[in-house]
Amino acid sequence: MKKHKLLNGKAVKQDKFCINAAALQDHLSRQIFKLPKINPKQLSLAQKLGLVPSPPKPLNQEEWQQIEEQSLKREDISNCICPICLEKFRMQQHVILSCSHIYHKACLESFERVSQTKQCPICRRQDYEKKNFMIANKKYKIQAIIKIQALFRSFRCRKRFYERMVQNGYKPENPLLRRKLIFYKMSRISSKMSKTLQHQGSMAQKAINQLGENFIVKQEQMENNLNQIMQLKQNNAMISLQPIEKVDWQSVKKSALDRKDTECTICLQSMVNCKVFLLSCSHMFHANCLCSFERYSMSQVHCCPNCRQPYQKSHFQLQQ
Ligand SMILES: [Zn+2]
Ligand SMILES: [Zn+2]
Ligand SMILES: [Zn+2]
Ligand SMILES: [Zn+2]
Repeated sequence: MKKHKLLNGKAVKQDKFCINAAALQDHLSRQIFKLPKINPKQLSLAQKLGLVPSPPKPLNQEEWQQIEEQSLKREDISNCICPICLEKFRMQQHVILSCSHIYHKACLESFERVSQTKQCPICRRQDYEKKNFMIANKKYKIQAIIKIQALFRSFRCRKRFYERMVQNGYKPENPLLRRKLIFYKMSRISSKMSKTLQHQGSMAQKAINQLGENFIVKQEQMENNLNQIMQLKQNNAMISLQPIEKVDWQSVKKSALDRKDTECTICLQSMVNCKVFLLSCSHMFHANCLCSFERYSMSQVHCCPNCRQPYQKSHFQLQQ
C-alpha cells in the first residue's frame, strides 16, 4: 500500500514538471518569436503559475499625476524639446511615458517601429505605459501670446517715444538714435504721402468716371441730332419732289417795288444798279450774296433768308 502511494506521488510530481516545462516553453517562444498574444491583457500560463513575474498593473490616475509632476520638475519639459528629434513640441501631439520622459507621438512610434522594442530611448525602461500629454501645447500657446503682447507693447512704446521726440524738436547726439529718429520721420512722411496719393488717385478715378458718363450722354445727344438731320433731309427731299408752282412774276415785282427796299439784307449794301435776284416771296438780294448763301446752306431746298419760304428766283435790275 505504502509502495503504491510513493509511486502515485512520483507520477504527480512528473506531471507538474511537464506542465511547468510546457508553460515556460510557450512563454519564451512567444517572447523570442514575437508571436501575438490572444488578448494583450491576458497572462500567459507561466505567469499564472508564478514561474515568470507577471507584468506590472496599469497605473492609476494618482500615479500618473505623480509622474507628470516629476517630469515638470525636469529641464526637458521647461525647454519643450523632444529628445528624439531635438525640435520643440509646439502644437504637435506628444506623449508621456510611465518613466516620466516625454516625446513627440510620431517620433516615439517611429522609434518603436525601427528598434522593434518597447524601450524608453533615454532610460531603457521596458514595457512602459504611455499617455497623451497637453502641458507642452499649453506652454507653447502661452509663450506665443506673451511674445505677441511684448511685440505690440514695444511697438507702441517706440511710437510714443519718437512722437514726443518729434514734438519737442529733440536732436539726439548718439548717431544710432539720430539715425533711428530720421528713419522714423521719413517713414511718417512716406506714409502720409502714400495716403494723399491714394486719395488723389481715387479723386482722379472719379473724375475719369464722370468724364466717361458725360461722353456717353453727349454721344446720345449727337445721335439724336443726327437722326433729326436725317429726318430734315428726308422732308426736304419730299418737298423737292413736289410739283413747281407757276409764279406770277408781275405781281411779285409790284409788291417788291411797293416795299421800296434798296438794301440787300445779307450784306447791308445798296442794290441799285447791281445784279439782283428777285425771289418768288418778293424779297430781293444781290445775286452774289444769294449764290454764296445757297452754297453754304445745308438743306437741298433753299429757303429765303428773310421769310424762310422755299422760293424760285429770277434776274432783276433795280433802278433809281
Ligand atoms: Zn520629436
Ligand atoms: Zn524613460
Ligand atoms: Zn448783298
Ligand atoms: Zn422772302
